[in-house]
Amino acid sequence: IMQVFEPLQWIGSSYRMIMKQFTDMENLVDLLNLKPEISDIPDAQDLDLSDSNGDTILPSIHFNNVSFSYKTETATVKILDGVSFRVEPGKSVALVGPTGAGKSTVFRLLCRFYDVDDGEVLVENQNIKNITQLSLRQAIGVVPQDTVLFNDTIAYNIGFGKREATDEELIDAARRAQILPFIESSPDGFLTLVGERGLRLSGGEKQRVAIARTLLKNPPILILDEATSALDSLTEKKIQQSLNEVSKGRTTLIIAHRLSTIIHCDEILVLKNGIIAERGTHNQLLSIQGEYANLWNQQLNSPDNINKEEDDE
Ligand code: ATP
Repeated sequence: IMQVFEPLQWIGSSYRMIMKQFTDMENLVDLLNLKPEISDIPDAQDLDLSDSNGDTILPSIHFNNVSFSYKTETATVKILDGVSFRVEPGKSVALVGPTGAGKSTVFRLLCRFYDVDDGEVLVENQNIKNITQLSLRQAIGVVPQDTVLFNDTIAYNIGFGKREATDEELIDAARRAQILPFIESSPDGFLTLVGERGLRLSGGEKQRVAIARTLLKNPPILILDEATSALDSLTEKKIQQSLNEVSKGRTTLIIAHRLSTIIHCDEILVLKNGIIAERGTHNQLLSIQGEYANLWNQQLNSPDNINKEEDDE
């Protein structure tokens, strides 16, 4: 990871600051490839999440008729074509759909890695084009598919979510993320080194570190980018418990690969060919016997096949 980090030294300090807040948002390499072409408008305001009494509120998220294409030297490929949905404060919405359907693109647009071509993305009724990127990203926590760990202690890796965290806060976050027993059984506890020259963590353990980080950061908006890799059912159950814990009291967007994890979401959106092909709760979508029901039956009948396909990619 240090090789990836060093080139950052010469990049402007504000960009570095965003990176610091934001390491988990994306694969670092992806981020570095991203031309920093998105900038704040001259009179950008901070995202305002306070009510008339000055108390902090949970924000809504609104994609209003959003269209977006990636532009490369050779082509313009339309990924989203008039996509609209809302996540009400404290609710959770899941995005499903075939690979390449644009699920991660929705998340990138919410974080404003790119600007939409048409329509608007609103957080608590504020167009994210008009607010500072820093305040937007401070409001968003991400539990990514692949958590980036630093070659440092477990304490450092968890504390990354909140630099000024106390020991008690660190322990509490680890406990709620269900990684405390693992840490306590590691050779040097919270001071155990992880990464290339230290302890190797499994995918599930890394994800729990990310969950602990996010619990410390305590953002009002949460993006869960679910791992595609197969987990054994006990691990999956445990991770699910910590995911439920971290999404409690936050406005949550889930990029889902395993449908079993989103049964209780307030709404499920099936993205296909640039549009939302189906939407509803798990039971509603099963009863219309369409795309979602097909995906569900596939995963139900042959989880091994599906996981194998994804591993082969
Ligand atoms: P998966 O389930 O495989 O993660 P997804 O639904 O999240 O897929 P996206 O990552 O949003 O899909 O990508 C949508 C499409 O856009 C894909 O065809 C992808 O190849 C393309 N794409 C993604 N990023 C870029 C980029 N930076 N430039 C050009 N095309 C891109």
